[in-house]
Amino acid sequence: MSGSIGNWRVELIEAHRDLFAPPCDIALAAQGAPECGPGWQDLLGRLCDRVRTAIRKGGTFKFSQIKEKYGTLRVYWDGRLSPEATVQVEEAIALAEARSATCCEICGESGRLYGDGWLTTRCPAHADGRTPVEVRPGLENIYIVSYVVGDRSQVTCRRYDRDTDSFTEVDPASLPVEE
Ligand SMILES: [Zn+2]
Repeated sequence: MSGSIGNWRVELIEAHRDLFAPPCDIALAAQGAPECGPGWQDLLGRLCDRVRTAIRKGGTFKFSQIKEKYGTLRVYWDGRLSPEATVQVEEAIALAEARSATCCEICGESGRLYGDGWLTTRCPAHADGRTPVEVRPGLENIYIVSYVVGDRSQVTCRRYDRDTDSFTEVDPASLPVEE
C-alpha cells in the first residue's frame, strides 16, 4: 500500500480528480472530500470507478458530500446526467452505502452496527466493548428502495451481499413481519 494511512483521502481524490470540485491543488479542500474513517477507502474507490463508468457518455458530475452519518456512509452529488446515467450513479451510491454498513470504518474488515450513545460500524476488534444494534433475524442487510423512472415510481426490496458486492431482489412476503 502506497503512502501512509493518513493520506488515503488525498490519494482517493487525486486518483479521481474529475469527480471532485473545485479543481484546486489542495485535494482536501475539495467539496466532496470524504468525512469518514480509513476503513471505507476501498468501497469509496469502487464507488468512484462505478461513477466514472456511469458518466462516460457525457454529462456533468461532482461529489458534493461524502460523510458518515448514523454509522453508515452518505453520498451526495451535483450535476446533470441522462436518466440512464443517473440511475447507474444512484445504484453505485446505494451499493457503497450498503457496503459501509458491513465494513468497519476503522480497518475495513467485516463489521456491523454498534450503539451506545452514537452509531458506528465496527469489526469486533474495534467495537471497544460497545453493544451491537440488534437486527431482527432475516432482516440483515435488507433495503427497501423507492425511486422514480420516467413518470413511474417503483419500490424494490433487496438484500446486500458483501461477498459479491451486489444486491439481489427479495420478495417482501418472504421477510419476517413486525409483531
Ligand atoms: Zn476494525
